[in-house]
Amino acid sequence: MTTQRNIAVERTFLAIKPDGVQRSLVGEIIRRFEAKGFTLVGMKFMKVSRELAEQHYGVHRERPFFQGLVEFITSGPVVAMVWEGDGVIASARKMIGATNPLTAEPGTIRGDYGVNIGRNIIHGSDAPETAQQEVSLWFKEEELASWEPSLTPWIKE
Ligand code: UDP
Repeated sequence: MTTQRNIAVERTFLAIKPDGVQRSLVGEIIRRFEAKGFTLVGMKFMKVSRELAEQHYGVHRERPFFQGLVEFITSGPVVAMVWEGDGVIASARKMIGATNPLTAEPGTIRGDYGVNIGRNIIHGSDAPETAQQEVSLWFKEEELASWEPSLTPWIKE
């Protein structure tokens, strides 16, 4: 949580992985979060260094898929983003769907576009603590643009 404009604003970190970029899903994925009513506050198109990938997925360091995951995330550009809104962390996870696209519900990003756990298109922070850590791992504060969308009164009571 970040306190700005005198209200508590919830933020999450999302990244469209190299498969999502290669499959031309960038526009469709951003469209879904925009249409839902969340606010984009940071975005960059970038190649991920091995160091950043290993830090980001550090919790999985001992898992058998770790090396392959790092290879994959560093294999091509990603779209790193920060989105803001009430309940955005949990809501984005629902919109993304289960880790394995084969069990992810239709209507979710992974459920609609994926078939393999190692190619599941998008990352989303799973809790407030990880969201905060990931936002500051991937973005400097000055790379985030706080703004008030003119549609806010039509999205929030
Ligand atoms: N992953 C994988 N094989 C596995 C489990 C996970 O390749 O058996 C990858 C997959 O890309 C997943 C990422 O590791 O998105 C992180 O796993 P986590 O359990 O944190 O899933 P997520 O939070 O992304 O749904």
